[in-house]
Amino acid sequence: MEAAPGPVKRRLSTVVNVGGVKVGGGHPIVVQSMTNTDTADVAGTVEQTLALAKAGSEKVRVTVNTDEAARAVPRIVDLLRFKGCDVPIIGDFHYNGHLLLKKYPECARALAKYRINPGNVNIGKKHDDNFRTMIETAIEYRKPVRIGVNWGSLDGALLTRLMDENAASPEPLDAKDVTLNAIVISALESAAAAERYGLGHDMIILSAKVSGVQDLIKVYRMLARKCDYPLHLGLTEAGMGAKGIVATTAALSVLLQEGIGDTIRTSLTPLPNGDRTEEVIVSQQILQSLELRSFTPQVTACPGCGRTTSTYFQELADQIQTYLRTQMPIWKMDHPGVEEMKVAVMGCIVNGPGESKHANIGISLPGTFEDPVAPVYVDGKLNRTLRGDHIAAEFMEMLNDYVDRTYPSLVAQ
Ligand code: SF4
Repeated sequence: MEAAPGPVKRRLSTVVNVGGVKVGGGHPIVVQSMTNTDTADVAGTVEQTLALAKAGSEKVRVTVNTDEAARAVPRIVDLLRFKGCDVPIIGDFHYNGHLLLKKYPECARALAKYRINPGNVNIGKKHDDNFRTMIETAIEYRKPVRIGVNWGSLDGALLTRLMDENAASPEPLDAKDVTLNAIVISALESAAAAERYGLGHDMIILSAKVSGVQDLIKVYRMLARKCDYPLHLGLTEAGMGAKGIVATTAALSVLLQEGIGDTIRTSLTPLPNGDRTEEVIVSQQILQSLELRSFTPQVTACPGCGRTTSTYFQELADQIQTYLRTQMPIWKMDHPGVEEMKVAVMGCIVNGPGESKHANIGISLPGTFEDPVAPVYVDGKLNRTLRGDHIAAEFMEMLNDYVDRTYPSLVAQ
């Protein structure tokens, strides 16, 4: 029998080191996120960054838009390090990045990477001094940059040039395709200019974000064909709730499955007072569902049906999922491999035992009108049958035992 090929053959790109995190070149796809606090609010930004990093964000971007924000950056980084958090902090610059980076060298030094938007730094104009200044600062402090094009702020001069060329062409494309081409060209021409100004090829990451799923796929396929820079994937302005999650998942999954993408961000609009860390969980879940990385034990749970008329089953599935997430930071420290664990929580015995056998550990709850017992399978074999009022607690105890036994603690060795 021939072994099945791995899930994805990754596009080979150069490797960029972002504050100790390697991006590209076949390194694990990096999850990143962005704060939505006022960066000048040091305490608030540190608190949110810590939450994002704890949730699993491996790089965190903060906006640097004012003097106060630029002054705050080194204090934010110092405070994070003091609290034991070494997540690289990336500065997001628009319009005035050249001024802020020059005026606040401590900010330029503290950041692990600069995000430059070619749509608002004069690139493409005769005097692209602003862009050049940012690149020269990156060279001076040995920082990589992300040239991040966004179609909401696409370089107008470039778009006009391409529209004019298209209008004069014997077979003109439609305006949308010209715009998508312009996004790709903006990223590539900006990267070429950065290299002309002396920035290393291995100091550049590209992104080209749009808000439509099919458009994003088209743009990144073009970009992937035309360069070997690592690519940062993200559907911009994905939206709120289910729409944002599904659209991001749809777009990123197609590209990731084709091997395109070295770092990803899910750009969800949080609900008022919503949890910013949701975007990290979604990114992790996309990568884990595609079997590209493992972050946390996976729970297989059936949707329930008329055989599970009480909410007991949903509550148990939720309790177990939450328990696994809260335990992970502890387990991860000294139970290597635990993130690969698969747990099944099934509503009844129709598919319960079968699904449980495919998991490391699985439970089938009693469906309506079934005997009030819950068989637990461990490594494919019936291990125990739980009954009574403490099924959830007893199952979690079994989970703990399983983790201790199967993923032995490094501390104990
Ligand atoms: S496993 Fe049982 S409860 Fe769950 S969906 Fe299937 S039949 Fe319904």
